[in-house]
Amino acid sequence: MIVPLRVRRNPERLIVTQVLTAEDLRDQILHHLTHTQGRGPEFATVFDWRLAVSYTVRDLMVGPWVGAIRAARDQGAKRVYYLSMEFLIGRILGDAIVNLGLDQPMAGALGLLGLDQQVILDDEPDAALGNGGLGRLAACFMESLSSLNCPAFGYGIRYEHGLFRQRFEGGQQVETPEDWLNQPHPWEFVRINYSYTVGFKGHVETVDGRAVWRPGESVIARAYDTPVIGWEGTWANSLRLWGALPTTLLDLKRFNAGDHTAAAEPEALARTLSRVLYPDDTTDSGKELRLKQEYFLTSAALQDIMARFMAEHGDLDLLPDKVAIQLNDTHPAIAGPELMRLLMDDHGLPFERARDLARATLNYTNHTLLPEALERWSTWLMGRVLPRHMQIIQMIDDDHRKTSGRPAHIGIVHGDQVHMGELAFIMAGRVNGVSALHTELVKDTVFADLHRLHPDRIVNQTNGVTPRRWLRMANPALTGLLDDTIGTGWTRDLDQLNRLEPFAHDAAFLDQLRAAKRANKVALSDGLLAGLGVKADPDAIFDVQVKRMHEYKRQLLNILEAIALWHRIHEAPNGNWTPRVKIFGGKAAPGYWLAKSVIHLINDVATAINNDPVTSEFLQIAYPPNYNVSMAEDLIPAADLSEQISTAGKEASGTGNMKFTMNGALTIGTLDGANVEIRELVGPENFFLFGLTAAEAAAEKARPGHARAAIEASENMKIALQLIAEGRFGRAESWYSLLDRTWNDDPFLVASDFDSYFAAQRAVDRAYADPASWDRMACLNIARSGFFSSDRTIRGYMRDIWHAKPVTPA
Ligand SMILES: *Cc1c(COP(=O)(O)O)cnc(C)c1O
Repeated sequence: MIVPLRVRRNPERLIVTQVLTAEDLRDQILHHLTHTQGRGPEFATVFDWRLAVSYTVRDLMVGPWVGAIRAARDQGAKRVYYLSMEFLIGRILGDAIVNLGLDQPMAGALGLLGLDQQVILDDEPDAALGNGGLGRLAACFMESLSSLNCPAFGYGIRYEHGLFRQRFEGGQQVETPEDWLNQPHPWEFVRINYSYTVGFKGHVETVDGRAVWRPGESVIARAYDTPVIGWEGTWANSLRLWGALPTTLLDLKRFNAGDHTAAAEPEALARTLSRVLYPDDTTDSGKELRLKQEYFLTSAALQDIMARFMAEHGDLDLLPDKVAIQLNDTHPAIAGPELMRLLMDDHGLPFERARDLARATLNYTNHTLLPEALERWSTWLMGRVLPRHMQIIQMIDDDHRKTSGRPAHIGIVHGDQVHMGELAFIMAGRVNGVSALHTELVKDTVFADLHRLHPDRIVNQTNGVTPRRWLRMANPALTGLLDDTIGTGWTRDLDQLNRLEPFAHDAAFLDQLRAAKRANKVALSDGLLAGLGVKADPDAIFDVQVKRMHEYKRQLLNILEAIALWHRIHEAPNGNWTPRVKIFGGKAAPGYWLAKSVIHLINDVATAINNDPVTSEFLQIAYPPNYNVSMAEDLIPAADLSEQISTAGKEASGTGNMKFTMNGALTIGTLDGANVEIRELVGPENFFLFGLTAAEAAAEKARPGHARAAIEASENMKIALQLIAEGRFGRAESWYSLLDRTWNDDPFLVASDFDSYFAAQRAVDRAYADPASWDRMACLNIARSGFFSSDRTIRGYMRDIWHAKPVTPA
């Protein structure tokens, strides 16, 4: 007989841990193994066990989840809707165990069953429904929304294939499809009764004075819900991902006529909509399928929001009081015209009323200033795929021209292009940047004209990351030390990390801090040896740069510095060098030739340097393939040095930088994105700064011949480029284009910042050689990182943008 799990209700919150013993959990796991997986223990594989464990944990999420949904409805609470084309979630099981407070009894249960917890956790595929920072931010926000009891839905697409898998062949990136849904996904609940029709193409008619869109094609959007459990398991919100289905499953006439492939065409066409995540990072891909995906997500979400709102409230005047919609970048910017279409065409509101309601409901987060990343669609494509929306966009644009008195050179529709940034801005109540510096640059550059017209619209919300996943779960060694030293309150209130300040001068504490870091480094070192054959000495500096491969992030600067250092060590092999392991991780967009060339260079340099007996004890380079959330969870807790070296003015915020800081790595970085705030908070003396400022970088770039002049002036840079050109790292021809671009163009100022970077790295060497001082700096970085919790970010959105309040479950 299996004892059903009971979660005892406490006036304040559900306390799961006090009720559940290891034996309870064991019994429940066995129950699911038998009755959900249909397996006897003696036949069960790791996969069967992992699913049984997942269903056991999921059972404990459902109570708080249903309770949260009920409480939000009963209290008529305002809900937040976060629309994002990407949610880079990673694994769910470990995070859910931590947030439900099940660490101890689960460890006990798995012990009773003779299972290795790490093997079970590692069996889960990453949910990689995103490219990088933007998608991971959305995932951190979902967790914080739940931890703060803020009623919310995340809306996204249930891609069958997430971000591609990366392998290296001959040092070059090879992409293979990712197939996480090739096996049951235990966390989701399919909602066949939440389905909406999403139309495309066709034409617009006028019937009784109202516009009626008659789509030429349509698909069904079906909801798949995943509960996102907050810290201490009192609240869970839904991540609602849409899967695309055909409106007609099979063309029976064609099937019966024997044309079986053609008969399945409508199905195949529909399914492509939710088939793959676009792997472009920060470039506008300009593809019809991409526009359709964006509209598919947005239309399904808005129909769902309106259906819920009408059922609960009915009075459209209440819309801004009950609904706050956040657009994560411009990808869902079609929400403006779509909401107006629903309000005007379905609900019969006049244009002005619809416009005002939409603007009081929608908000937009800008994530980038890179011109190539600002979405634009041709009016021809927009008019063909979404004819009614094209009309409404034109109406919005004309109306804005008249009401704002704006100058002629700005607007949504320009020549034959629809500018999604302008559309998102004009339809938003609030527009936010994602770090203090970025927000100022948004005001001064991309939206300077619109900002002049609407000076109160742009606000800042500096990004954050969830300390549950990025500290508590990813770094048990440090978590144990923190809990013992300052209690567990930091998990909910990360500012409490400042209680560590006095320990920055406590030698015994610093020894323990070093021991925790070393344990993480030993584990990583074992992994690098087993996986790559790289010998990473845990006493060397672990110097980590992990993020998407992009020119502006300047992995090239990092690898050139490695080459120059290698050369210097060769000149003085008996010198007093501080041993260093440089670790890279990251994927390049499949069509991004230059980024791929840098990957190839890093791998070839690693091969040459790692096997050099003269330098091998001082310098090793490791580039494990397929960087993802799970790899980040292994690498970041083991890092001593965090590389945040983008060209100033290019990185909107960064969130990797925050994860490293709270895990006690010191940063070498430029004054870019949130690095500026990190440096201010941890103290300039605890941060390795180098490079031009954003203003200086802009001026430098405008100077003709800046690249060549900077290279000629830098001995170390010249040597590094020369060694590459000589063919010391694979065939010289491989690098001609990269070298040519560096000498003649260097748009991201690798050369201009090289000497400053090299010098800062030598300062790192000296600092690391003094362990007591290094550990004190690491301690202060942790102690002062509380600001970078995504709880603080979400509180800021709730207060300044959404005007949403937390809700107490009944
Ligand atoms: C945090 C994170 C990112 C973002 O890193 P940045 O350094 O801010 O670009 C990208 N990918 C993964 C897997 C992450 O966890």
